[in-house]
Amino acid sequence: MLQKLLAPVVAWMVALMAAMGPLGVMVLMAIESACIPLPSEVIMPFAGYLAFKGQLTFFGLGAGHPGVQIWIAGFFGALGCNLSCRFCQNWHLSRSRDLGLLRDRATPEAIAEGARRQGCRSVAFTYNEPATILEFVSDVAEACHARGIATVAVTAGYLEDAARRDFFTHLDAANVDLKAFSDDFYRRVVGGSLEPVLDTLRYLVHETKVWTEITALLIPGLNDSEGEIRRLSEWIASDLGEDVPLHFSAFHPDHRMLEVPPTPGATLTRARELAREAGLNYVYTGNVRDREGGTTRCPGCGRAVIQRDGYRLLDLNLQEDGTCGHCGRPVPGVFGTTG
Ligand code: SF4
Repeated sequence: MLQKLLAPVVAWMVALMAAMGPLGVMVLMAIESACIPLPSEVIMPFAGYLAFKGQLTFFGLGAGHPGVQIWIAGFFGALGCNLSCRFCQNWHLSRSRDLGLLRDRATPEAIAEGARRQGCRSVAFTYNEPATILEFVSDVAEACHARGIATVAVTAGYLEDAARRDFFTHLDAANVDLKAFSDDFYRRVVGGSLEPVLDTLRYLVHETKVWTEITALLIPGLNDSEGEIRRLSEWIASDLGEDVPLHFSAFHPDHRMLEVPPTPGATLTRARELAREAGLNYVYTGNVRDREGGTTRCPGCGRAVIQRDGYRLLDLNLQEDGTCGHCGRPVPGVFGTTG
């Protein structure tokens, strides 16, 4: 009885910690390893494969579109990455070789079934680079699709052609990090190169039906110059199209980049202006409190079709067919319902 009464409180606390990202995940893992069982309907403690019910941060998915953050998703991650970003904010997982972090309950069927039980509309592969567990992603995706659950990858997109084609076959949506618009940055700070990531974006947009969005983490003094932001935005507009959503996200000191200060909100706001000037229709700011930076405006009439405050949906002016509620212009995205 007491357990039943406490369940909503526990669920709320778990969701809160999960929303904190890797730190919250580690707290949850510590709680579980202290032999305090977490309710499986709230969290599926598979971590390093760790899934929980949360709100998808993609803007093009869910009820409404570019920007509606209401698609309830299950998230999970594993260990390892094929890049080595000095600023990695999930380095506890991406750099870890501690297989003891992995659990043995993360079967594809268990993940998909857990997501279904929780009413998740999608399962997102995130935290580390999901392409490093391509075969597992494939099996989870198959189990999810069999239940009508979509799959989403949060990926750096640093892949060769054959792996790229194989990986994205299993996905319905992707958010690709474009970490800078400079090969030098990729080589010095990320441990990779720029061109394969651009190839991934071209492939996704021009050769697949995978809903694609881009995130650019702006790091003060390293990749946040107006010239670089203009070049990046102009490339997206010309090579991918002006409707591809772009998120400028704030850096926080972490891992091997503790000496760099956090990104000021003004930098993100200016980047958003520059990207819009370059012709992009859906540009957002992330990791900061910025209502205008989280608002989707109709490119036709300029009025707000989706307004958000952080992860909260404030107002929705989209028709069910995905057109602007004010002027009727189509707003691209993947439609769903809020139910
Ligand atoms: S690609 Fe992502 S997970 Fe991998 S090291 Fe870079 S920031 Fe970390």
